[in-house]
Amino acid sequence: MITGKTKVLAVIGNPIAHSLSPVFQNAGIKAAGLDYVYTALPVNNDDLAAAIAGMKAMGFCGMNVTIPHKERVMDYLDAIDEDAKVLGAVNTIVNRDGVLTGYNTDVKGFINGMKQQGFSPMGKQAVLLGAGGAARAIIWGLIQEKVAGLTIGVRNVAKVQPLVDYFAQYMPITLLDWQTGAFEQALSQAELLINATPLGMYPKVDAAPPVNWTKVKKGIFVYDIIYTPAETLFLRQAKENGCQVLNGEAMLVGQGAESFRLWTGVEPDTKVMTEALRQALTQGK
Ligand code: NAP
Repeated sequence: MITGKTKVLAVIGNPIAHSLSPVFQNAGIKAAGLDYVYTALPVNNDDLAAAIAGMKAMGFCGMNVTIPHKERVMDYLDAIDEDAKVLGAVNTIVNRDGVLTGYNTDVKGFINGMKQQGFSPMGKQAVLLGAGGAARAIIWGLIQEKVAGLTIGVRNVAKVQPLVDYFAQYMPITLLDWQTGAFEQALSQAELLINATPLGMYPKVDAAPPVNWTKVKKGIFVYDIIYTPAETLFLRQAKENGCQVLNGEAMLVGQGAESFRLWTGVEPDTKVMTEALRQALTQGK
């Protein structure tokens, strides 16, 4: 029951009504028996400073931040965590006695999903398909986990070069056109293959990134960060090739679970959160 003592959490963005975070965060809160409530609040660009000041004034415990505020919100916070600094984006704010600290939980969200399946990227050859907004957290996560090598395959190398140059200060990354023989060679060495393109996402479920599966080793770990549908064509192809697979529910719930830990200090039940997400996604179709 919500009372005068209930602690308040929210996600801000614009648009925000479609956000699934309230669904799985409130499921996690209920499962943990905590007196918190999590809602979604639309905030316009011009109102961002006022919204953050309001968060402080009204004693919100924490917030998630999504598009279009992830970068600009950093200007209004008191401190920024290392991952968020490297990525130049905050998706989580923690309010500790009026001091607002910004975090980026996408990094651990991405990595923890794999680890929960018993797969560690450390020392592995990783191949990443696509390099847009979500890929930044993936690249930084893989670097921190000390992968042995990272190859990124894209359709437009020139566009992605600045991103690879930025991360070169932490680790050399090979950037290749995914239509080339050099990319097929990298694919044949991969022990971890990740799709960070929207190819195969609902409603265009017949699409998939151009992977020559005859080159891919059997039994490698294949991770698609898409979560609608739960099984993309890419993941189906991976399964048919004897690979271990994971879909994007893991990253979505994983980033939320990491925010939950930061706000409450409590370990969330990610199974309950994933179930709530899956149910909402099924009902939404
Ligand atoms: P984005 O910024 O648009 O980047 C997408 C990447 O895929 C870019 O490299 C883009 O290349 C490439 N791409 C897009 N359409 C393509 C096409 N038709 N053919 C070839 N390449 C194409 O998107 P994002 O925000 O990174 O998100 C990517 C996917 O991840 C989406 O499906 C999104 O729903 C999902 N996602 C999941 C989570 C999660 O928590 N599970 C979190 C974030 C995102 P160009 O730059 O050349 O267009």
